[in-house]
Amino acid sequence: MVKCPYCNRDAMSLWRKSALGPGRVVNCQFCGKKVVAHWTAFFAALPAFLGGFVMMRSESLPVGIAAVVGGVLIMGVLHTFVVPLVRIDP
Ligand SMILES: [Zn+2]
Repeated sequence: MVKCPYCNRDAMSLWRKSALGPGRVVNCQFCGKKVVAHWTAFFAALPAFLGGFVMMRSESLPVGIAAVVGGVLIMGVLHTFVVPLVRIDP
């Protein structure tokens, strides 16, 4: 789901997309128009937050690190397959 809503080509790399928060405006690397991650990106970030929360509460560091890594991975997957890029209409 990194397709640009204007030109329908890859607006950015998957990695860059997964690091994109909700409401972050970026220019399409192909046509240069402004696109933004859909507001559902907020939910995509939740697993990562949850992982951080588990790490703070967990007594075992490896378990906490695994929770964070897992959360970030899930966030990346959600961004890749679920969260679309949308236009910014002036
Ligand atoms: Zn474009």
